[in-house]
Amino acid sequence: MCSRWPPRGAGSSELRWLMSSDVCKHCTHAACLDVCPTGSLFRTEFGTVVVQEDICNGCGYCVPACPYGVIEQRPDDGRAFKCTMCYDRLGEGQEPACAKACPTESIQFGPLAELRERAGARVAELHRAGVTDARLYGHDPADGVGGDGAFFLLLDEPEVYGLPPDPVVTTRDLPAMWKHAGAAALALLGVTAAAFAAGGRGLPGKGARR
Ligand code: SF4
Ligand code: SF4
Repeated sequence: MCSRWPPRGAGSSELRWLMSSDVCKHCTHAACLDVCPTGSLFRTEFGTVVVQEDICNGCGYCVPACPYGVIEQRPDDGRAFKCTMCYDRLGEGQEPACAKACPTESIQFGPLAELRERAGARVAELHRAGVTDARLYGHDPADGVGGDGAFFLLLDEPEVYGLPPDPVVTTRDLPAMWKHAGAAALALLGVTAAAFAAGGRGLPGKGARR
């Protein structure tokens, strides 16, 4: 990813490169799981989120549900695909291929707590070196998705990388919406029953004509 800094029109045309991998964040609270009607998306024994293409029906519900926009659909049949954090390799006790292949070890794999500690130390080091905009993104279990399984060290605002500044679980309000819808349906049922009862009382009986 490349970005212009300062922004266009701010008086400079200086360019800089900002690198980031646009992968599934393996959210702690993953809305994609909430909306998938087939069980194609599932939480693995490693805590990651994986899509099974052979079960996917191509409905596409998961695409707008993802706050990071990382799910793609195949152009031919709509089946979803995304980073699985190399589920097959994890099953064999290996690290994901990206972490294995990265020559600068920019991508690291390991227990989350350990990675958070390591990343925090790196940010402190960068701050001491004068890179004051350095920050972590997705590391906080208290954020809107309960923290990400894949988090990042950014050198600028998340928006500069095309990331939402405050991601939330897009299905967060669904339980409350269903509750309100249920209450409204019950109220409607009550009104309808009352109308029938009132209508029944108002009907003239056969003997009323005489
Ligand atoms: S980043 Fe998107 S696709 Fe990945 S777990 Fe979170 S909601 Fe699901
Ligand atoms: S497109 Fe596939 S993975 Fe996505 S919600 Fe539909 S069935 Fe599930």
